[in-house]
Amino acid sequence: MTDAPAPPTAPVPPAPWPDKPLDLLVIGAGFSGLAMAIRARQSGIDDLLVVEKADGVGGTWHENTYPGAACDIPAHLYALSFAPKPDWSRTYAGQPEIAAYLRDLVDRFDLGRHLSLSTAVTGAVWDGARALWRVETDRGPLEARVLVSGMGALHHPALPAIPGLHTFLGSLFHTSGWDHGVDLRARRVGIIGTGASAIQVVPAIAPEVGHLTLFQRTPPWVMPRNDRPIGPRMQALFRRLPAARRALREVQFRVREARAALGFIRVSRLTRLAEAASRHHLRRQVADPALRARLTPPYRLGCKRVLISDDFYPALARPNVTLETDPIRTVTPDGVTMADGRHHPLDVLVLATGFDVTASLARVPVVGRDGLILARAWGERVAAHRGVALAGFPNFFMLLGPNTGLGHNSVVLMIEAQVEYVLACLAEMRARDLSAIEPTPEAQARDLADLEARLAGSIWQQGGCASWYQDAAGRNVALWPGTVLAYQRAMRVPDWSEFVLTPARGRTRAAQES
Ligand code: NAP
Repeated sequence: MTDAPAPPTAPVPPAPWPDKPLDLLVIGAGFSGLAMAIRARQSGIDDLLVVEKADGVGGTWHENTYPGAACDIPAHLYALSFAPKPDWSRTYAGQPEIAAYLRDLVDRFDLGRHLSLSTAVTGAVWDGARALWRVETDRGPLEARVLVSGMGALHHPALPAIPGLHTFLGSLFHTSGWDHGVDLRARRVGIIGTGASAIQVVPAIAPEVGHLTLFQRTPPWVMPRNDRPIGPRMQALFRRLPAARRALREVQFRVREARAALGFIRVSRLTRLAEAASRHHLRRQVADPALRARLTPPYRLGCKRVLISDDFYPALARPNVTLETDPIRTVTPDGVTMADGRHHPLDVLVLATGFDVTASLARVPVVGRDGLILARAWGERVAAHRGVALAGFPNFFMLLGPNTGLGHNSVVLMIEAQVEYVLACLAEMRARDLSAIEPTPEAQARDLADLEARLAGSIWQQGGCASWYQDAAGRNVALWPGTVLAYQRAMRVPDWSEFVLTPARGRTRAAQES
């Protein structure tokens, strides 16, 4: 059998539905939303609600329960700095352990009374006269002075435009919606895609399926993973001596930072060295030169996300696994037909085809000042001031917004930098008695120009590949083009000259005038 899905969240009694404007409404209870809620509570904001469309907390780690799902960042580095967990069981934690960690945060920080699960936001409109957000959800309307989106970007499955896909009569599902009711034993299973999700699924299910056909369009660069269990003695040490855990985390952080600092965001000598290391990994694990050739990427390492795995290549050498590298012509009711007419009969077809980032970000219609629609404001290019705030959208903040994802280090560090930035904005609102805060268009444009300068000539543009990091025009709109330290520096203290600050009395005047 495949991995069991994560156990359902322990029932959290729904928070009482607010009947007056909230100080803070957070959308999403993944890493971002939970971090925001915890730190807001700790900074004295108690009138807050987190709404989550799913029936449990955890975001991507709640949804992605596919066999083999795990994180590519070491667990100690992937945890929130203010909510450490000394007893991670492995260097790289699996999905069940990460999901349990996130569920545990609800009890640990007493978030239950601030949490409304199975509540999908369907739209949000800024009410300038009252200086608050009017938010529609499928449980009813809400109002909030400040709206923070922790919606994330990787939850809208990208379904491939392959002719006949929906004529397939076997089991068909995306990795993020794994159907655990389907018994894979002795079945003919096809997987489309060779990204981070697929290369975890393949070794996890290959031993149990009858036959596995992996449909590869572009081979990934793969590096060794070196995953190890963390035994009870180390766990006890980390429990007794937090400094040891912090030191390990710091080393893990610095090693990854060095990669960005040393210039992995450009094609360089280091790119060649890393490519050589990856080819060595491939040579050691795949004996057949023809198979190796088909697994050798035709673009520069770092252009797409670099994957880490010790068991993906060996799984491909199994007698019950076929790597198919020709283009797919069509999906038929009983399998997949290749461009040259060869047919793979299948019982199960898994789409490991990733996520539609643009659709994820624009999923909820958000209408800002003067009727400005977020999707339209992003017509030219998806962008935000520091990746967090948007001109024309007062009191609205995004966590893990445009160009703040990472390929080289723990994205949790980015989330924390953003949460503190938002809290600094909220503290300033309280200190100066402001009704609204938003970045100036000029500051946002300067920020974007700076970003574009950093991105010019970067490996995502020059590396010879296409990836989900890019928009339709080929621009990287997903990743931060620098070190985490550089981002943390940029986020440490907001520069108030970059913001329009509206005093609360302005709100009163506007209300009286209207
Ligand atoms: P992904 O990286 O976008 O990979 C999608 C795969 O599907 C690619 O191999 C792509 O091929 C292929 N594909 C898409 N459309 C296709 C089509 N029409 N025909 C054939 N092949 C097609 O998606 P993912 O693997 O789900 O990963 C998404 C992101 O989630 C990752 O980059 C990472 O940020 C995160 N993630 C992280 C982990 C982890 O930490 N271990 C695990 C899973 C996901 P091309 O390359 O040719 O486009």
